[in-house]
Amino acid sequence: MTDPATHSDQHSLNKSYIGRFAPSPTGPLHFGSLMAAVASFLDARFQQGQWLIRMEDLDPPREPPGTAELILQQLQDFGLKWDGDVLFQSSRLEKYQGLLEKLQQDGLCFPCDCTRPQIKMMGNVYDGSCLSRASPPLTNYGIRVRVEDKLISFQDLIQGEYAQNLKQDIGDFTILRKDGLFAYQLAVVADDDYQQVSHVIRGIDLLDSTPRQIHLQSKLGFPEPIYGHIPIVVNSSGQKLSKQHFAPSVNTEDANKLLVKSLRFLGQNPAKELMLESPATILKWGIENWDIQAVPKLATIPEDIAK
Ligand code: GLU
Repeated sequence: MTDPATHSDQHSLNKSYIGRFAPSPTGPLHFGSLMAAVASFLDARFQQGQWLIRMEDLDPPREPPGTAELILQQLQDFGLKWDGDVLFQSSRLEKYQGLLEKLQQDGLCFPCDCTRPQIKMMGNVYDGSCLSRASPPLTNYGIRVRVEDKLISFQDLIQGEYAQNLKQDIGDFTILRKDGLFAYQLAVVADDDYQQVSHVIRGIDLLDSTPRQIHLQSKLGFPEPIYGHIPIVVNSSGQKLSKQHFAPSVNTEDANKLLVKSLRFLGQNPAKELMLESPATILKWGIENWDIQAVPKLATIPEDIAK
């Protein structure tokens, strides 16, 4: 039987709230990605909204076989039940191609074969040099989208107002990589629109991607979701928990402990005894007591703070 607390009831669903968790299957869930899953889940369920899963499997060389299935199993073990079918980005390549062509037809794209060291020399803000070349590169190039010299700002649900001038801070950015893979920025915008996502709750490491996404939404005529960025978890050396830094996989046998730890980390105030309860009971408490305003307005929180 479906637990109404953790699974949205189709009758009482708030149709205007659609949230999502969008893991890249480059490794199993670690405490940092669990946080993003829990925060987006609680915010959606608190608002009787839908909570979708999108597997961002756009980079096969970085995705060990079986990882997507493992992540889905971990989410289930934590009691994080999603609505509908999981969307795999690998099934959406034709759509991304169509959007790329639209941007090209609108004269907003250009090929670029600049290397990482060259971009570093530009101070990591792409200076548009390939735009003024006499002849475009013929091999080994990616596609960039042009940006404008104007401030893009939005009101983050957690961090408050955030603004960026893409021309000055980022430069024209890549939407098709040199290796022929679609870039995250294009795919995420395509699918947040396709899945009609209204609320994006995710880690603060993506805060400075948001103006790029808003730029693409405006060029493609897509609505802009509401964004909320939670602090990221860092290890004792101050590094983001990630596969690159060997963050361990969450242990689903500790699901109740880790869920209570997640709630504390997110500024919520569960009693210690809640740890003795099942994941479903902990999440039920989390939904009923969710206060997004209590999430710390911080960029990073050390992993061991909420022990
Ligand atoms: N797939 C991205 C990641 O795992 C998250 C994308 C997003 O939430 O916008 O970091």
